[in-house]
Amino acid sequence: TIGYFNGEFISTDDSVIPIDERGHQFGDGVYEVIRTYNGIPFKLEEHLDRLEMSMKAIQLPQSANTEREHLRFIIYQGIEKSQLQNADVYIQITRGIATRQHLFPNVPASVSMTVRSSKFSANNIHDRVMTAMLHEDERWKNCYIKSLNLLPNILAKQTATDAGFGEAILIRDHYISEGTSSNVFIVKEETLYTPPLSHHILAGVTRKTILDLASSLSIPCEETEITPEDVKNADEVFITSTTLEVTPIIKVDDQMISHGQPGKITTKIFNSFLNEAKCTSTF
Ligand code: PLP
Repeated sequence: TIGYFNGEFISTDDSVIPIDERGHQFGDGVYEVIRTYNGIPFKLEEHLDRLEMSMKAIQLPQSANTEREHLRFIIYQGIEKSQLQNADVYIQITRGIATRQHLFPNVPASVSMTVRSSKFSANNIHDRVMTAMLHEDERWKNCYIKSLNLLPNILAKQTATDAGFGEAILIRDHYISEGTSSNVFIVKEETLYTPPLSHHILAGVTRKTILDLASSLSIPCEETEITPEDVKNADEVFITSTTLEVTPIIKVDDQMISHGQPGKITTKIFNSFLNEAKCTSTF
């Protein structure tokens, strides 16, 4: 495992974050998680685009250490130092180190990063299945920002786990928004559905990859509002994220989905996704 904080590669056990670091005190920052395949970061530019968007959204100004070229450089350096083929790169940018007060300080941003071995690498879709619980979306109105403030996500995920489920699928104003750390897709009569982009969900990089894949596989796909009943009545359900990739959901609350097996279309998309991730990374 590799750690990095403000210009130095460190051990993840080192105590390096000053008390007055704003990520630590306020969660005043944004982050990205990027997956590597064969040592190459997948969809790196898309993640860096979203990081820039998140920074703009919280009015975190660019400084020399947050420029794209610099971030790209330290990400590649971290991956190389880790010697890992399949890694999760966590990169975080905060509003810096300044005596605690709410107003923006005039100091450089902090950049931290970890590079760790990736957890979810089973190639067999049957080893990936998960269950989900429906849960109220208790988050704020700007969930399109990949912000450090994840308390409602953490609480919902813990509630789901304590109840014996793998993920919580969140409901806001009678419609599904997303998972606590994933986007949600359902399949009904061979058509794929996922909630439309809005301020209430994160524009998942994997979500976009799946929409593009579906189009190239000629699987009809609609970005439309989905109710909790639609999820329970779906032929197939799956969630997507950088680390979960494509994960079949075989039970929602007490409702079995697709007889407790990964569905046909989910399997097709799962295989195409892994194929794209691994092929893209061989060049
Ligand atoms: N939605 C939320 C709330 C997330 O935290 C994540 C990723 O962690 C996603 C969706 C999926 O995004 P991506 O596919 O870019 O990893």
